[in-house]
Amino acid sequence: GYRSRAAYKLRQLDETASLFDRDDTVVDLGAAPGGWLQIAAERVGAGGTVVGVDLQRIRDLDAEDDWGDGDVATVETIRGDMTEEKTTDRLRETIGERGADVVISDMAPNMTGEYGLDHARSVHLARQAFEVALDLLAPGGDLVVKVFQGKDLADLESDIEAEFEYVRTVSPRASRDSSSEVYLVAKGRLTAPVSEGD
Ligand code: SAM
Repeated sequence: GYRSRAAYKLRQLDETASLFDRDDTVVDLGAAPGGWLQIAAERVGAGGTVVGVDLQRIRDLDAEDDWGDGDVATVETIRGDMTEEKTTDRLRETIGERGADVVISDMAPNMTGEYGLDHARSVHLARQAFEVALDLLAPGGDLVVKVFQGKDLADLESDIEAEFEYVRTVSPRASRDSSSEVYLVAKGRLTAPVSEGD
């Protein structure tokens, strides 16, 4: 089985926006406990690579045999804080020259219950994911990022829109019961990443 209910949200997002192709390289931010890693690994297949990052340790997926059908991607995990440069450096080294085809982020702050604060922290994490996408995503690549609705959502969306063919706001059925979360789905990165030293 899958490690999280969130797995079904990613499956729905993929059905809506066809995110993954076989052999893709995928970056998954806020990946613990690993439900999205499992979905992505199944969708890209054995020729693909999925790299997950989280503050929390992600238990080894190879240790589990009750998902996938053997045709699953290599999954690598990094434990770290995506707001720290040493983590983004490690991620860049792991991805290397090839770049990523898809960046997905389900990162969420610890909820305080104070709406404006939770929203602001969520936007901060979403912007971090957007930065990573600008750094690593190949031309034509896609970005999916979770964000809590609120006053700064429109600005974030238009900033992302400038770098992609189009952006949609998607609210997967699996998350409608809870909260104010939505996913910004940005399709088709417009330009190549700026390489170091340029
Ligand atoms: N998509 C995951 C799955 O399917 O199993 C669930 C992700 S959960 C909703 C959000 C995750 O974001 C948490 O595991 C949390 O540790 C992580 N997170 C929050 N802030 C982070 C940060 N600054 N850097 C890395 N991960 C972070």
